[in-house]
Amino acid sequence: MSYADNFKKMKPGLDFGQAVAEADRCLLCHEPPCSTACPANTQPGTFIRKLRMKNITGAIRTIKENNILGGACGVLCPTARLCEKECSATGIGRPIEIGKIQRFLVEQSWERNLNLFDTPNPRNEKIAVVGSGPGGLSCAAELAKKGFPVTVFEARPEPGGVLRYGVVSYRFDLDFLEKELGDVKSLGVEFKCNTRIEGDRGAEKLLENGYSAVFLAPGLWGAMRLAPEKEPSEGLFTSVEYLAALRDGRLEEIASQVEGKTVAVIGGGSVAMDCIESAAKLGAEDVYLVYRRSWMQMPAEEDERIESLEAGVHYLLLNQPTGYRTDEKNRLTGLKMVRTRLGESDDSGRRRPEVIPESEWTLDAVMVIEAIGNRAESDSSRWYPNVDVDDKLLIKADPETGTTSTPGIFAGGDIVRGPALVVNAVQDGKLAAKAIQEYLKE
Ligand SMILES: Cc1cc2nc3c(=O)[nH]c(=O)nc-3n(C[C@H](O)[C@H](O)[C@H](O)COP(=O)(O)OP(=O)(O)OC[C@H]3O[C@@H](n4cnc5c(N)ncnc54)[C@H](O)[C@@H]3O)c2cc1C
Ligand code: SF4
Repeated sequence: MSYADNFKKMKPGLDFGQAVAEADRCLLCHEPPCSTACPANTQPGTFIRKLRMKNITGAIRTIKENNILGGACGVLCPTARLCEKECSATGIGRPIEIGKIQRFLVEQSWERNLNLFDTPNPRNEKIAVVGSGPGGLSCAAELAKKGFPVTVFEARPEPGGVLRYGVVSYRFDLDFLEKELGDVKSLGVEFKCNTRIEGDRGAEKLLENGYSAVFLAPGLWGAMRLAPEKEPSEGLFTSVEYLAALRDGRLEEIASQVEGKTVAVIGGGSVAMDCIESAAKLGAEDVYLVYRRSWMQMPAEEDERIESLEAGVHYLLLNQPTGYRTDEKNRLTGLKMVRTRLGESDDSGRRRPEVIPESEWTLDAVMVIEAIGNRAESDSSRWYPNVDVDDKLLIKADPETGTTSTPGIFAGGDIVRGPALVVNAVQDGKLAAKAIQEYLKE
């Protein structure tokens, strides 16, 4: 088995017996706190009750009618800090594994080939959606369910956004993604891939060219950079480039660069976790996580961090990268750093890392991945110049409706919130779909 085989499939979910046994632990709360904790308004209290009654179709409907990406959320949501955090069963033992039950039910809908949605009365007003990540897919599905002809414009060769070109495949595999995309396509949503909306007023031209409303969900595909004095020509990746390469056919190529070598990843968030874990799975000899603050201040989920330690990743905390060492051909040979200590709290409420004088050192490494944050692509606001953005190029939109400063243009997902979650983008898409219908009535 090659290292690349580790990436093909995600771990299997619950089988029928396991899902029913887990549902049997549910206390069937009268006013389920789990149901108020979901940012996309999913009702675990209801679908678990239906599963208990062996009403599988009803349980699936409860999930999918509310969230067309119910499967993705079941797999990827950090449930420990959402619905499961509120679960009443926690007081007795451990919380009900709501995410796993949700995934099981969505997989059942595919196994049973259920037709979940009625054919709506067709509407004439065409809607354009820019971006096929969770936000765009959710908005497109909601509007298609109401009979609107929806076209999703996607810059990349295939739809899915971060679900396809970001999250590593052993956490969310292609087969699962294609099935969930199939649910969106079955509603009649049209996809135009390899079609980047760009140029002068690109988004507004959609309105001039026959679309009655536009939903912008292009996400954050620019990478924050360390901005070293000298960039190597080989061995340096941003997390955006590296993770996309693992999923766009270059997995073997990356594996050959990593196997048996030392890899350093800069960053302390969940994206950095995907980078270190995948590098370890690709057979790197040593993987270092470099973070300028301490363990307690890392934004990544604690269970992810513990898993990475179990996978043998070395943590270089309180170290701040300053640049790269290269050989005579400008190939990366090391990561230069200074040590830090924690000082007073900064605006984020976390203690600020302070550089320790004369503590410079260099870690030998042939590959470094910068995972220090995603941001809007630098040219993004050029194709919607009349839509107000903030100083980080995030679109200013009403959080309840996605309404922007330009009539007919709505926005949601990461391009509005900054880096967030799949479930947040799903909710933005739903809210905008509702607001678009109101706008068209007016
Ligand atoms: C590596 C990684 C791992 C993550 N893991 C998790 C996780 O485990 N759980 C979780 O809940 N969240 C996770 N997230 C966050 C989550 O994926 C995002 O919050 C979510 O995908 C945002 O959805 P979106 O629709 O706003 O944008 P995206 O998913 O970014 O999709 C935007 C789409 O728009 C396209 N596009 C951009 N510009 C244009 C243009 N001009 N014309 C046409 N198309 C365009 C892009 O190609 C892309 O396909 C992760 C994020 C990353 C980066
Ligand atoms: S809070 Fe927990 S125990 Fe109560 S209904 Fe939800 S899953 Fe069941």
